[in-house]
Amino acid sequence: MIDLHTHSLLSDGELTPAELVRRFEVAGYRALAITDHGDQSTIDLIIPRVAAFCAEVNRQGGIRAIPGIELTHLPPQSIPPLVSKSRELGAKLVVVHGETIVEPVAPGTNRAAIEACADILAHPGLITEEEVFLAKERSVYLELTSRKGHSLTNGHVAHLARKTGAALVLNSDAHAPGDIWPAARLREIALGAGVTESDFQTMMNNAESIVERCLTSKK
Ligand SMILES: [Zn+2]
Ligand SMILES: [Zn+2]
Repeated sequence: MIDLHTHSLLSDGELTPAELVRRFEVAGYRALAITDHGDQSTIDLIIPRVAAFCAEVNRQGGIRAIPGIELTHLPPQSIPPLVSKSRELGAKLVVVHGETIVEPVAPGTNRAAIEACADILAHPGLITEEEVFLAKERSVYLELTSRKGHSLTNGHVAHLARKTGAALVLNSDAHAPGDIWPAARLREIALGAGVTESDFQTMMNNAESIVERCLTSKK
């Protein structure tokens, strides 16, 4: 199992990066990305620290850790420069906090994240079909999530991804130990959103490809 969207106490998660990694490892995961919330004021604090920490974890063997960031509640026009800046600072995976229906995320965030070629657009809420098609064209993964609240629109996202052929990933958006799910529950969440068994397998394979790319990329 792989989880590409998790939080530590470097933003609003409950666990240190070390405990987060340990708990995912014990739960049977082979890789996770640490993607704390960041904005203009914090990405330079968070990303280099997480990158150094993940490099140390990866030298030890066992679970693989990917340094990431979740650009959160930015004005849409700030998203493209901060996606670039995050990569320069060492983020191997750039997630953008999409237009979930349970928070006042700025309209235009989904489109800006896709146009900026973020790696994953998280919980994109009532994303439009045109934006989903653009995500497919730009190779931006759309997220289904097990996170309470954000998960309310999983069915909508899954439906449009299936219709257009856009690629999906399934993440926990874990903030605490109780958010780390077993494989059987993740499958149930995907099927509950209307994803077929074969598309669920594709989602798992998508996560494998992302991890492979992150771990082998030089920059
Ligand atoms: Zn988010
Ligand atoms: Zn998150």
